[in-house]
Amino acid sequence: MSKRSIFLSLVSCFLSLASIAQSTYWQQRVEYTMDITMDVEDHQFKGDQKLKYTNNSPDTLDRVYFHLYFNAFQKGSMMDARSRSIQDPDRRVSDRIMNLKEDEIGYQKINSLKQDGAELQYEVSGTILEVKLDKPILPGQTTLFDMQYDAQIPLQIRRSGRDNREGIDYSMTQWYPKMVEYDMEGWHPNPYIGREFHGVWGDFDVTIHIDNRYMIGATGYLQNAAEIGMGYAGPVSKNEDSKQVQESKINSWHFVAPMVHDFAWVADPDYTHTTIELDNGTVLHFLFQKDSNTTNWDKLPEYAKKTFEIMNKDFGLYPYKQYTVAQGGDGGMEYPMITLISGERSLRSLVGVTVHEANHSWYQHLLGTNEAQYAWMDEGFTTYASEYVMNQLFDKYTPHKGSYSSYFRLVESGLQEPLTTHADHFHTNRAYGVAAYSMGDIFLHQLSYVIGTETLMQGMRRYFNEWNQKHPTPNDFIRVMEKVSGMELGWYLEQWIETTNTIDYGIQMVQADEKQTNIRLERIGRMPMPLDIEVVLKNGKSKYYNIPLRIMRGEKKAEEGMKDYTVVEDWPWTYPQYELKIDVELDDIESIEIDPSERMADVDRSNNSYPVKAGIIFQSK
Ligand SMILES: [Zn+2]
Repeated sequence: MSKRSIFLSLVSCFLSLASIAQSTYWQQRVEYTMDITMDVEDHQFKGDQKLKYTNNSPDTLDRVYFHLYFNAFQKGSMMDARSRSIQDPDRRVSDRIMNLKEDEIGYQKINSLKQDGAELQYEVSGTILEVKLDKPILPGQTTLFDMQYDAQIPLQIRRSGRDNREGIDYSMTQWYPKMVEYDMEGWHPNPYIGREFHGVWGDFDVTIHIDNRYMIGATGYLQNAAEIGMGYAGPVSKNEDSKQVQESKINSWHFVAPMVHDFAWVADPDYTHTTIELDNGTVLHFLFQKDSNTTNWDKLPEYAKKTFEIMNKDFGLYPYKQYTVAQGGDGGMEYPMITLISGERSLRSLVGVTVHEANHSWYQHLLGTNEAQYAWMDEGFTTYASEYVMNQLFDKYTPHKGSYSSYFRLVESGLQEPLTTHADHFHTNRAYGVAAYSMGDIFLHQLSYVIGTETLMQGMRRYFNEWNQKHPTPNDFIRVMEKVSGMELGWYLEQWIETTNTIDYGIQMVQADEKQTNIRLERIGRMPMPLDIEVVLKNGKSKYYNIPLRIMRGEKKAEEGMKDYTVVEDWPWTYPQYELKIDVELDDIESIEIDPSERMADVDRSNNSYPVKAGIIFQSK
């Protein structure tokens, strides 16, 4: 063997080791073919659902579960009980489920379920269908579930349903019997109580038969626009169709969605349809009821286009050729390739909600974390990206500030719970909201303080490239950040996510020492952090000192604007104090501040500066 071939075989050995490491990741696969017949008089539909399910796990599965989300909208459901007992109920739900009439409740009734042609036994347990398999699914095996069911669309209470408060007929989300995800953490048959979802990656082929007065928007690409003569082929004036209305014909809308983990749709007879195209060919669609309350929808497409351009450039390329913003639902809720938002809003609010939901295309619909378990990775990362985008869309925007103040108020209230809490298990909706949205946003913004903004953004793109169309976990995310920064960051994940520890650092004493100055810093809070210290000199210049944490085993490089930057001795966090000795005379110092960028979520900033900003000057010479 020549030296060269030894080298080559070593290289191929390393390559195969690398692919072994990657191949430990697996995910299940679904291929749905649905045929849906809508009865728009009784608000019911019949479903014929064929599901090819591939078990890519190393485990033999002796059971499967399906979500039956519509069953939540029945008196006495877990969602109903939870909403009537939690101390701060969502006003959209409160006691409304209890008061639904028989023809207003939601349900999914399974008429038959077969596996590879053989009838299966099953049990409906609230919003979960429990299915014991006669024939277990072996690792690597594909099986076919054939299901026939009837469903009634509930009066809209939360997210899905009919007749939303702005008059949209059908908001069809969490609407079909959906295979529960089985991943490395096992099955996730979460009852539908309040929030957050998880789904199996795969392809959807959905045909919806509906009265031809209706226009539909959906996840996926419409296959027969010409045949229908409306919809995504372009807007059609309703008057041209008035003859057909009297004949009450049925249109069959055929959609195909490749590699997504859910499917949603909307239908209304009064939708106006507009579009805007990105330079790369992706088409953004807008469906709304044009009236005096929705005039801002005329300006929305330009903002949405800019949003996708910024996200594509800075966070990773949106791979689908289409995205739809549809008026519907009860606020804003993200689905693959489509969002349903309430539409009667000020321009700023309309753009804000669109940016947030569109950014979920990255943080949930491409980076498919288990939202119920790690809500901070989808709501929080989405909030971070939205603040990033909004800051570029609007003048005088102060990004992330709102997240910090909500967090500080929650700490003060004593209601804080760790971010590892399951989305449905927080004691209060408030604690969930601040944990998922605000603390998730801070998690990233504060991480930019630890590793540097440029490194963070490099990490965000690498995270996207390595994990899109998969199910990343918190550890997968932090490993990417460790690789791009060269630092150990497990402590940061653990402290911020798994505990309710808070951060508080202070300047204890500033003392002249001949030509030098001694600055004594103290750690008051339980959560350790590296420190940026800015020393402003009387000549107007600034010196920056970075104190890494010893457990980081690395240090941040100078960030933009930090010209005079010195990394000093690291801080072993168990020491309550740290002595920073700098080569500057005290008389030359105008002020000293811990974390001048205010990215560190320090719960008491009153002790962060010298002289104390409140006006109390302490100094001992
Ligand atoms: Zn969100």
